Parts: sequence; structure tokens; C-alpha cells
Amino acid sequence: MMATTHALVGVALALLVAPDGGLVPVAAGALGGLFPDFDLYAGHRKTLHFPVYFPLAAALAAVVALVSPGPATLAAALFLAAAGIHSAMDALGGGLELRPWEGNSDRAVYDHFRGRWIAPRRWIRYDGAPEDLLLAGVFGLPAYAVLSGLAETLVLLALGVSFVYVVLRKPMVWAAERVVDALPAHVVDLVPARFLDPEEFK
Ligand SMILES: [Zn+2]
Repeated sequence: MMATTHALVGVALALLVAPDGGLVPVAAGALGGLFPDFDLYAGHRKTLHFPVYFPLAAALAAVVALVSPGPATLAAALFLAAAGIHSAMDALGGGLELRPWEGNSDRAVYDHFRGRWIAPRRWIRYDGAPEDLLLAGVFGLPAYAVLSGLAETLVLLALGVSFVYVVLRKPMVWAAERVVDALPAHVVDLVPARFLDPEEFK
């Protein structure tokens, strides 16, 4: 799923848990939803994706937040919960490959607990699929309706970015391949193998 979808899920979670919490829980949920995808260029869906450990850490943080309520403990619990939902949800999407819509990869997200890759379920066929945008809307539009000010603007921006990404998802791969073909070899060396060789992650 798109990083924006995950961020909007985090926002929706924050609004559900702390409807009157203000900006801090919303920001914590959004950042937690985004966080795992910061591994895009270094071991994507493995380095910062923890489908077992994030939910466990979130459960512990939730206990801490209940025992010692406050903005910081609530934010920590929401951040970890959103990152955990993100990591687990990636198993419901497509695999790690240049053209995930072809459905050739058997790697969705890495399970550090069991030491193996979880296979993609493809309920959302690939990140940036039309159904991914639908999901972003399901979580983002209620959040947009509830929020105001900066948070409302950012939610709208996330929905807009999602829309553009979905429109450009396949043309982007096509264009990227042309760019890589035109690049000098020493620059291509810097591009992660995942983007160059679709066979790499079958
Ligand atoms: Zn992810």
C-alpha cells in the first residue's frame, strides 16, 4: 500500500482513540504510519517493517499509556500501533518487484520473528492500485471531515498525492526504466537492485 494510505490509517486510528487529543496524537499516528517506508532504499519492507514486533511494542506502550496517561505515552502508543498496522497491512498488498501488478513476487513483508518473508495476499493488488486509493479515501475522508486547520490541509494533501501517485504508478515504472537505460554505469550502480532487476525478488 501507498505510504499515504498508511499515514491516513494512522490518522484515523488516532482520531478513534483520542478524538479530542488535538494535533499531537494525530501527528504520532501519521508518522507511525509513514515510518516503516523510510526503508524504501535500504532493505525495503524488512529494515523498518516489523509485523510482529511493532504490534507487540504497541501493546506494551498501550499498557504504559493506560497506567500513566499523558500526551507522550499516548503518542508513543499510537506511533507504534500505526507502524505495526502498516507492517502487517503490507502483507495484504502486492509483492516486492518492479511491476507488482504482474504478481510474480512471493515477498510482501519480512517477519523478523519467524525469520522469513510473508507472501503477498494481494487484496490490494499493488501499491498505487485504484483500490489502494479507495482505501486511502475510506480512512482519509472521515479524517478530513473531522479535522481542521493544518491537519485538515495535510490530510487533503495526502489524498491529492495519493491520487497523483495512482495515476502515475505504471507510467513511472515505464519512465524509470528508460532513465536507467540512459544512465552511465557508475550511476546505475547506486540504484537498488530491486528497481533494476524484476527477477531479483521473485
Ligand atoms: Zn510498507
